[in-house]
Amino acid sequence: MRKNIILLGSTGSIGCNTLDIVKKFPDQFQAVGLTGGSNGDKLKEQIEVFKPRVVALLDHGAAHRLQGECRHLPVEILSGIEGLKAVATLSEGHIVVSAIVGAAGLVPTLSAIRSKKEIALANKETMVMAGELVNKEVREHQTRLLPVDSEHSAIFQSLEGHRKEDLSKLILTASGGPLWDLPKAAQENVTPEEALNHPNWKMGAKISIDSATMMNKGLEMIEARWLFDVIAEKIEILIHRQSVIHSMVEFIDGSVIAQLGIPDMRGPIAYALNYPKRLPLKLPSLDLSKIGNLTFFKPDLERFPCISLAYEAMDSGGTFPTVLNASNEEAVGAFLERKIPFSKISAVIQQTLGAHNPKSGTNLDDILMADQWAREEARRTVKSHICH
Ligand code: NAD
Ligand code: MG
Repeated sequence: MRKNIILLGSTGSIGCNTLDIVKKFPDQFQAVGLTGGSNGDKLKEQIEVFKPRVVALLDHGAAHRLQGECRHLPVEILSGIEGLKAVATLSEGHIVVSAIVGAAGLVPTLSAIRSKKEIALANKETMVMAGELVNKEVREHQTRLLPVDSEHSAIFQSLEGHRKEDLSKLILTASGGPLWDLPKAAQENVTPEEALNHPNWKMGAKISIDSATMMNKGLEMIEARWLFDVIAEKIEILIHRQSVIHSMVEFIDGSVIAQLGIPDMRGPIAYALNYPKRLPLKLPSLDLSKIGNLTFFKPDLERFPCISLAYEAMDSGGTFPTVLNASNEEAVGAFLERKIPFSKISAVIQQTLGAHNPKSGTNLDDILMADQWAREEARRTVKSHICH
């Protein structure tokens, strides 16, 4: 039987990589629902190739234009958050790929869980904002989350067949991003173009900046904490420039198991889509003799303060991780719009966390309110940085 895929964020980087797999394995997968933010042109191309039954765009105007352009096609076009939720819960969908970027992914992903869909999770922000709540909903609705983030897929694969109680720590590898060796003083002058230029992975803008600040690894630490039920103290971050080892797990007998592969997101996406079976992806083989050396070192927390901010937010609990995430999104947006220098991204997040009055991290209303509050607070801080 073909698996019906609902793809949230189909017009983005993970979205397009997922559709590449659907295209390669037409006997196994069918895309029944697609969603995007505002890119109607890309979604139209995807409608023509993949023939989904229903699509949605967040942007009402863009959805309206798309309806006009697709009048002759057998597709239903919805819009707004209600449209996204309707696609996320389509009755014929077997698995939902959650690949919207940022906090906007949370509500549609929760809707999909509540309609008992299996989730292939790329949207790490969902777990950062609401990991405990999401786990509770997954249990209540008797479904499961399959990680798409390459590190978490690597950990998931390395844990297969092992007893949870034998685990002693998780080791999240990080490429270090494009600025890993830049002195702190020079961070002041980093341009968006330089920060977007990731050495090993081609990704959307937001996660590329998160890789440059290494907040991405902080967010992934929190994601791992909830996906694998491991406390933050047992999650270590290790810089590994070559992005060959995608992450590792250590067991109580000292044995370490790692997952290796070329850096290509189609590997972890395909593993989640077809779990527990593997797909013959025909990607280039990993040629270790060509790579020669694999190197490892600890991250410099002085130059990458976002890592410490993530550990602190996780340690403080409640709505602090939500605030970490929301203020980061605002600060990254301000940097991309050239309103603040690269070096101020962490300062905006730190200041917002410092001003927060936390609520419980398990109540959706509290989480959404904290997200909103943090955005407004971070915007105020951005403005004050511009003035001084
Ligand atoms: P992207 O920017 O390329 O794509 C984002 C998608 O979300 C697009 O379809 C866009 O239209 C849609 N979108 C944006 N804002 C929206 C909103 N407010 N409401 C609804 N839809 C919206 O991002 P990406 O790089 O594909 O990343 C997607 C998610 O996957 C992120 O959470 C990221 O951290 C995670 N991830 C990405 C990669 C990667 O290689 N790109 C790797 C690991 C994890
Ligand atoms: Mg990752």
